Amino acid sequence: MTTSTSPTSSSSPLAERLAAVRHGIEDAAREAGRDPGELTTIVVTKFHPASLIRELASLGVTDVGENRHQEAQAKAAELSDLDLTWHFVGQLQGKKARQVRAYAQVIHSVDRLSLVDALRSEDATVDCFVQLNLTPDPGRGGVAERDLEPLVEHVLDTPGLRLLGVMAVAPLDEDPRAAFARVRAASERVRRLSPGATAISAGMSQDYAEAIAEGATHLRIGTAITGNRPAHG
Ligand SMILES: *Cc1c(COP(=O)(O)O)cnc(C)c1O
Repeated sequence: MTTSTSPTSSSSPLAERLAAVRHGIEDAAREAGRDPGELTTIVVTKFHPASLIRELASLGVTDVGENRHQEAQAKAAELSDLDLTWHFVGQLQGKKARQVRAYAQVIHSVDRLSLVDALRSEDATVDCFVQLNLTPDPGRGGVAERDLEPLVEHVLDTPGLRLLGVMAVAPLDEDPRAAFARVRAASERVRRLSPGATAISAGMSQDYAEAIAEGATHLRIGTAITGNRPAHG
């Protein structure tokens, strides 16, 4: 079947990649004996223009992810007429925390006690994940596995934050299935402290099937849907 036979807008390359990933997610869920309806797909749109997000929204995308504050803030403002859920997935400076809260409904990168303090609010609640660092490199975002409980407890004690669960990025040099098994184990530790915090944000373009097999509930998928990111720098 060629795309030229289809008169609908769903024949755009973006629509085709989105459809392919949706099918891939459904297949992976079925394979894992899971209901695809329990999975949230976040399209990571960093470095892409607001117009691409508008096109994604017209294709039924409801959740988008960004990793740089200034870029995310500008796009959220430009697209405020759309009913999108904005996920902040990048490393977050304490001094930007308050501003990110203003447009992001979900923050995936809570990784240290001081950032929890910076996100404190008596007025409004934001959903968040604690990010786990699966590498030995402390320069990577995320809390070390051994420091997980004190961070979770601090989130639970801080007004203005609702803990959804745990987030991680699989290291490049580890089998993703093994990495996501570690995330699942961390999720069980989180649930011992906060039984409702059952979500797992894991899985990107190259490894979402492995993440689904290990219980991911929130997939963060960029290039497989958006195509390559424009050059930046
Ligand atoms: C960029 C990014 C993604 C998406 O990565 P792709 O490989 O393009 O799917 C997911 N999570 C985080 C934290 C990111 O920075």
